Amino acid sequence: MFKKILLFFLFMLPAFAQGPAFELQTERKNGVSYVDGVDLGKKLKMQMLWQSGAGILQIGASSWILDNEWANIKDAGFLLQAPVQGSINGKQSFWLPLPSSLKVFEQMLSFPIEYDSSAAKIRIGQAKDIWNVNLDAKSNGEVMELKLSKPFKTETFYAQPNFILRINGAAIDSTMFNDLAKKSALLSRVVPIQDAQSAQLTLALKDNCEIPELVKKDGEKTLQIVLRKKQAAPKQQQPKAENTGNTSGKKIKTIVIDPGHGGKDPGAMGPNLKEKDIVLSVGLKLKKNLEEKGFTVKMTRSTDEFVELAKRPAMANEWGGDLFISLHINDIDGKESRQKAEGFKFYILRAGGSEEDKVIARRENKVVALETGKRKAEISPAEWIVLDNQLALYAEKSALLAGYLVEAFDGGSVKKYGTGAGQAGFMVLVGAYMPAVLAELGFINHPKDGAFLATEKGRDELAEKLAKAIASFAR
Ligand SMILES: [Zn+2]
Repeated sequence: MFKKILLFFLFMLPAFAQGPAFELQTERKNGVSYVDGVDLGKKLKMQMLWQSGAGILQIGASSWILDNEWANIKDAGFLLQAPVQGSINGKQSFWLPLPSSLKVFEQMLSFPIEYDSSAAKIRIGQAKDIWNVNLDAKSNGEVMELKLSKPFKTETFYAQPNFILRINGAAIDSTMFNDLAKKSALLSRVVPIQDAQSAQLTLALKDNCEIPELVKKDGEKTLQIVLRKKQAAPKQQQPKAENTGNTSGKKIKTIVIDPGHGGKDPGAMGPNLKEKDIVLSVGLKLKKNLEEKGFTVKMTRSTDEFVELAKRPAMANEWGGDLFISLHINDIDGKESRQKAEGFKFYILRAGGSEEDKVIARRENKVVALETGKRKAEISPAEWIVLDNQLALYAEKSALLAGYLVEAFDGGSVKKYGTGAGQAGFMVLVGAYMPAVLAELGFINHPKDGAFLATEKGRDELAEKLAKAIASFAR
């Protein structure tokens, strides 16, 4: 009955970034332990509201009623094992029964609260979304186990020799990873990085370690990174990263064509044109062209369907691709700019690049928001560090490929935009273990480019030039 009133109160989560670390003494009454709710709220720096007339204390989003055994967070009720007490051992306060009250606090906080009955204390931990880490040796490897305060979205990715686990939205206490690598026979380093969006662990694998596997348990609150020792007579499970290490000696056989966007993501829009349609049609033509030249061709999509950015290079790896080309049509904001900006440009994955190239990369990366609901248009500095290995392997080849492409397109129907080649953080190129290029084939809203891109003839020409460049590169 008090809920209606309480709903009007604003609540705030505690303000400290690192989380508190303290203890509170508990008291006993009639065989039940209690913690002073006012003390606890203060220590947690939670906003508190005391309605003396109604006997209600609001701590953050939770509300507690004197002599009542229900606590509430908004409309959710939590049954406590005893009523809230107004006085214990002569001290007036809001005494909350333990341990049931802590369940209510756990709903509001991202760090653990622990009730230690033998010491008559409650302990509130450090900023710990990851509150425990353990490394266990097994007969055939090791298991690193992380205990999380709640389920988080995770991403993993592998760039030899690093295995990266990203836990989105989590905070970590980096000191807990200090000595971990020393205990491991399979890891040379464990590097925790905390940034605004995520906690990231980079495990540098020794040569004798297979690509780790992430296993989620306990309602996704336990993460296990399974590290397997390589077998003596290895049946390699990681050919993608290894056999492409020396692309120079390897024949380019399988080409992966990635028509950008698709399905619910139209890409750039012209008056009567959609990027997703143009690049699909050019992609299909290119496939035909390349097959005639004897290449094996795979496509990340061959219909108007939505494929997540990160899946595209992963598909290319799975297919054992030797070259990845992502097809796009450019756009620019502003009426005047649209009249002016025309031409093709080929991009490789690299940090830096001009502001303009970054803007184009952001535009192409924007779809990640459609996939995850989160805005993520750029590759973070931490991610660039991780990408270094991969870039060192393929950047040179990718740049060479871009060079062939510029050469083939030079003097064609579509002009060169700037130098015709650039570098920026295109997410669709991240994780492709092969030379990879993103092609911006023209500007959809430029009168001349747009008209050209709308025709079969124009698309034929683009596909032909792409095929020619790829064939030259592959020779
Ligand atoms: Zn695009």
